[in-house]
Amino acid sequence: MQFETRAIHVGQDPDPRTGAVVVPIYQTSTFAQHGVGEHSGYEYARTGNPTRTALQQCLASLEGTEQAVCFASGMAAEDAILRLLSPGDHVIMANDVYGGTWRLVDKVYKRYGIDVSAVDLTDLDAVATAFRPSTRYVWAETPSNPLLKVLDLPALAEVAHDRDAWLVADNTFATPYLQRPTEFGADLVVHSTTKYIGGHSDVVGGAVCTDAKTADDLAFLQNAVGAVPGPFDSWLTLRGVKTLGVRMDRHCENATLIAGYLAGHEAVEEVFYPGLVDHPGHDIAARQMSAFGGMISFRVAGGADAARRVAERTELFFLAESLGGVESLIEHPGIMTHASVAGTALEVPDDLLRISVGIESADDLLADLDRALEG
Ligand SMILES: *Cc1c(COP(=O)(O)O)cnc(C)c1O
Repeated sequence: MQFETRAIHVGQDPDPRTGAVVVPIYQTSTFAQHGVGEHSGYEYARTGNPTRTALQQCLASLEGTEQAVCFASGMAAEDAILRLLSPGDHVIMANDVYGGTWRLVDKVYKRYGIDVSAVDLTDLDAVATAFRPSTRYVWAETPSNPLLKVLDLPALAEVAHDRDAWLVADNTFATPYLQRPTEFGADLVVHSTTKYIGGHSDVVGGAVCTDAKTADDLAFLQNAVGAVPGPFDSWLTLRGVKTLGVRMDRHCENATLIAGYLAGHEAVEEVFYPGLVDHPGHDIAARQMSAFGGMISFRVAGGADAARRVAERTELFFLAESLGGVESLIEHPGIMTHASVAGTALEVPDDLLRISVGIESADDLLADLDRALEG
């Protein structure tokens, strides 16, 4: 079965009792047992819930992994991956990962004796040099946020595997429709399903897609710790993922038009979009992604104040954090999503804007940007 068919069918057979064609929201905390210790696969809803199971089966199929484990948020999914480690272990992390990812290791896991090095993962020599005997993970995110840097997944997998470490790939920006990191050697794929997979900006969730043994270990941790997604959240995410393919096609189509438009606009200094042939990661992106995604960043001529005015002047592009929904969003990373990296090597230009291109009519989106940039 092809991707679009699996998104709609895997884990989603009609309900055996009623024939309902949509997986029900099993809004229950416990499951009656036939006899003492004899049950139909479900006992207590922290451990498992059929709506969550359906979502997990579907996501595993889309990422091409044996299993998926879904969590209450993307951060809860990342937390579970880090809980597989022990004090003394070391992680090599892309130096421009999602801010919350960095905060989790730097501010939380360091206190438990797990060390982390921030490394430019586009520099494979730097990655090799950063390795220690205790290194367990290379943690990649591609394309990255907000500068859309592209990482070479097969090369990183090789460096990691040569040294008995695992490659973790945050695939939130690309989604499994455009890029499946395990095909390039990644051992664990993590998602904030809040973004493109949910796709409608109405639910927070996370997932890890991996082999059966690692998924069991993660499920054990999840049951012990408790960061489970509720049945309604699982259902909303499952409803969203059915249309992932058609949505991504439109996100990519609109973003390609808008990136080209911005690149030719005199009020724009520089555009960051992996689909542009002069983007430094274009060739790698073309090898490991089937299209270039819906996220674009650009620098506005005239500096920070000019950028701020553009962000405040768009009408269809809502001024908001987050990404990956059907509606277009614009934000100023220096002041909004990336304020915490100000003054560090990761500081982003203060004239930078990031847009999450939605699936509205491209004509309307272009007209909105045109108005905002002319003003
Ligand atoms: C949003 C995001 C996360 C965190 O996910 P939540 O669902 O907000 O907890 C992790 N990685 C990336 C790339 C993200 O965009």
